[in-house]
Amino acid sequence: MSILVLGSGQLARMMALAGHPLGLTVQAVDVADNKIVDPISKNVVNCSLDTAIEEANVVTVEFEHIPEALLETVHASNKLKPSAEAILTGADRVREKKLLEKLGIANCPFSIVTEVDQLDAAIDKLGEKLIIKASRDGYDGYGQWRLKDKSQLPDLKRHLAKLDLNEVPLIVEKMLSFEREVSLVAVRNQAGDIAFYPLAENLHYEGQLHVSIAPATNIDEDLNLQAQEIFTKLAESLDYVGVLAVEFFQMGQQLLVNEIAPRVHNSGHWTMQGAETCQFENHLRAVRGLPLGSTKVTRTTAMINIIGCKDFNRDMLSIPGCHLHWYGKTPRVKRKMGHFNLCADNYKELSKSIQALVEYLPEEFFPMLKDEAARLAQF
Ligand code: ATP
Ligand code: MG
Repeated sequence: MSILVLGSGQLARMMALAGHPLGLTVQAVDVADNKIVDPISKNVVNCSLDTAIEEANVVTVEFEHIPEALLETVHASNKLKPSAEAILTGADRVREKKLLEKLGIANCPFSIVTEVDQLDAAIDKLGEKLIIKASRDGYDGYGQWRLKDKSQLPDLKRHLAKLDLNEVPLIVEKMLSFEREVSLVAVRNQAGDIAFYPLAENLHYEGQLHVSIAPATNIDEDLNLQAQEIFTKLAESLDYVGVLAVEFFQMGQQLLVNEIAPRVHNSGHWTMQGAETCQFENHLRAVRGLPLGSTKVTRTTAMINIIGCKDFNRDMLSIPGCHLHWYGKTPRVKRKMGHFNLCADNYKELSKSIQALVEYLPEEFFPMLKDEAARLAQF
């Protein structure tokens, strides 16, 4: 049984690793040149895109920003899961906002801007503290600008005037002061069954995810239900098949949707060691029509991204419950190079393990760890 993944980065790699024990062969498409590659070795496979699609039982994606022509070709094969509509919704903030509004799902107050001068009206509506997001092709905080106060507006307008806002409109959002960020990763199969992982708590630094703690601390039944209801509404309206991630801002007892990701998600990497079935395996099971695996938590887990940091010695593996996933990519500033999953029996033990890990790592690349260890020690 073979699965073709559009995109050949670490998410395709982790799908391939998860598929192997099930006898699922995963190949990837490098969307820059449509070459077929092995997602682990990255070696080019001698096979055309058309043949790879024809031979695959199902085609899925590791990210949402798929070139239009490629998405159309795969859509036409009737093998794409999740659907092109779901992928396009995750790839375009205007579509995403329209869906959230249509379904009556609480999200961050926003305006759609297609001309820089509309920014004045946006400020009147939303206030002067804004976060401005390109509606397409943004990730990890790229394609975003922040307005702290009105004095920065002329410079920002000059900068944004260089972009084609008719082609790629801006979503201008009110800068919220939320309590924290959480996300729900869950999987839905063709029959409509859904298996939820617990909410994960996500710590960002300069617009990028650095740490996820799962299960999130201090989640009551009400928050959990809110998140699951929102997920169910979105997944049902898109007739979604596969893993879907929903990112939330928590304001008091209310969850506001930040964005959705129609794929396996960085805030779900903890499931590789912390849950009975990891998100990658569950995604493959769903798109391949196999029974979903249990999403039960087995360990309290911290997922710690390794960002922009060159290779290092592996001595931290002496810490009990410490697992390294190294993606084998060429280092670049702010590039995700790998992640740790650190597992423990409870938050206190996890706090101790994070403190131990800090001793092995250069602090400049892991700015959130010390404070997070101190916070978790209170539970
Ligand atoms: P990623 O690929 O990491 O999910 P992204 O580029 O798709 O990021 P967002 O998730 O929209 O972009 O934003 C990145 C981060 O910036 C958020 O996780 C949050 O920390 C912060 N952020 C985004 N929107 C707002 C907002 N309206 N108010 C306050 N902070 C925000
Ligand atoms: Mg995000």
